[in-house]
This record gives sequence, structure tokens and C-alpha cells, in this order.
Amino acid sequence: SVPLAFFSGIGAGSKKGILFKGGSSIEALNHISTVVMDKTGTITKGNFAVQKIIPFQNYTEDDVLKLCASLEQHSTHPIGVSISAAAREKNLLLEEAVSLKEIAGHGIQAVLSSGETLAGNRKLMEKFNIDLSGCIQNDYGTEVWLAHKGSPAGCLLIADTVKPEAAEAISSLKQLHISTAMLTGDKLESAQTVASETGIDQVYARLLPEDKLTKLQEIRQKNGAVMFVGDGINDAPVLAGADVGAAMGSGADAAIEAADVVFMTSNMQAVPSSIAIAKSTNRIAW
Ligand code: ADP
Ligand code: MG
Repeated sequence: SVPLAFFSGIGAGSKKGILFKGGSSIEALNHISTVVMDKTGTITKGNFAVQKIIPFQNYTEDDVLKLCASLEQHSTHPIGVSISAAAREKNLLLEEAVSLKEIAGHGIQAVLSSGETLAGNRKLMEKFNIDLSGCIQNDYGTEVWLAHKGSPAGCLLIADTVKPEAAEAISSLKQLHISTAMLTGDKLESAQTVASETGIDQVYARLLPEDKLTKLQEIRQKNGAVMFVGDGINDAPVLAGADVGAAMGSGADAAIEAADVVFMTSNMQAVPSSIAIAKSTNRIAW
């Protein structure tokens, strides 16, 4: 049964768009040492925009955007959505894929009528033996590399922005004596930029979805109980593996299912608020 005092916590939460799944999640939140967060969509807005298109060989900017968007047109990943939007703005006619595979933490591989095409990060290019040596390395933003018919065809630079309330939310967590860590599949340079803008203590980059769970368990062993906050895309196993898993924003169904706490808002202040509510609820309960 749920102790009566938990109802006050549940009520206080619902006013702020925080849904606790039962009293045990409120209890568990009291013992958290570290809040571990996903980067994209959790700390950043997840509203990517194409900033720059760099064509290689004889490809034009429009060729590169068109090929990329042909792969990304059905993707719900924020990176894919931004590429589709950029192509739509230019009224580019896209190709339909004969076969298409979205590879989590990597990008997309597809066969178009014009040939085999890849769009994704360096790891995807390495996986398919595409040689990027001689292609420029940019240090700002997320790179989406394009390979067409077995060789590099271009690179898109995509940037996301940190949520305006993120730094304040991190400092509220510090006031609650909670340390913070960020996990991301993105490259280290982008991750460090976000960390220094927000004051997050620890950063782990270039992680595959399954590496995130391993990293979370390492942090848990070192620091004690952990809360994980993610927007849900590929995050269900990590949510389930944390002492308290919180799904943020609209969230995928699988994430809401795996989560102990659901934030109906994408405002990061919900994270320290949920812990503050749990702490005051527990003072009443015991
Ligand atoms: P995060 O950990 O920041 O939420 P993801 O695990 O969703 O990121 O993705 C990690 C990386 O994989 C991205 O930064 C990107 O380089 C690549 N990636 C994933 N999905 C796509 C896609 N649809 N198109 C291009 N690149 C992608
Ligand atoms: Mg993500």
C-alpha cells in the first residue's frame, strides 16, 4: 500500500507535470547520489538545424542534401528530421529507398536507385570501410557524413542548442548535493561544449546505446544510487537499469513504459523539482 504522505508528493508533482509511478519511485529518489542524463533532447533542445553542407568530389551541395534526405525522410531521430526539413525548404526531389536500415548510434544505410548510400557518423563510415582520410575534420556541431557508391560524397554540419534553463537546473541539483553526468553517442567536442555551458560534472561521449547502460552501472558502483533522465529514443534499457529512470518530454512509448518517473514537460527544472518534492514528501512520511 502507498503511505498517505506520498499522495501529497504525487499531487505536488502533477502540478509541475511530473508523474511519479507509485510511491516507491518517490522513496528511491531520496537516495540518489548522481543524476545521469542523455544529451540530445534532454539537455539540448533536440532541434537540430543544418548549418553547412560540404560536398566532395563532383557532388553539389544540393546532391549531398538530396541523398542524405532520401535516407532520413522517414527517420524520427532529431538529426534526420532536421535534414528532411532542410531538403523540403529547397524543394528537392527525393529518391525512394529499395532497402533501408537505421543503425542505432550510427546513422542510416540504404540502397537507392542511384546506388548504395550511407548517412551517419564516423563510426558508420568505419563500419562500412569508407575512407575519410583527406576529408576535413570539423570541431563544431554534429557531423553527418555521406557516402555514395562506396566513397565519401559530402558532410553536413548540424547544430543543436542547449535548453535555456539547463545551467540553472544543474546548479539546483548541486545545491541538493547531487552530482551530474552526461552520456551521449555524439562526439567528445560537442559533448564538452554542452558540459561547459551547463556545468555538468562528468562527460562520456561516443557511446553506443548499450555502452550507456555499462557506463551507468560504473557510475552507480562508484557513487551510489543513480537517476537516469532520457528523452527515450534508444534509452529504454538505461531507464530500466537506473535506480530511478525518468522519461522526459513527449517520449517514446517504450520509454514511458520503462520509466519510474515521467516528465510531461521538456523543461529541465523538472529534474531538481522531482528530487525536491521527493525529499519534502519523505520528511512528512517518516
Ligand atoms: P544521443 O546519445 O546524443 O541521444 P544517439 O544515440 O541518438 O545520440 O545518436 C548518436 C549518434 O549517432 C548521433 O550523434 C549521430 O552521429 C548518429 N546518428 C544516429 N541516428 C542518426 C540518423 N538518423 N542520421 C544520422 N546520424 C545518426
Ligand atoms: Mg538520445
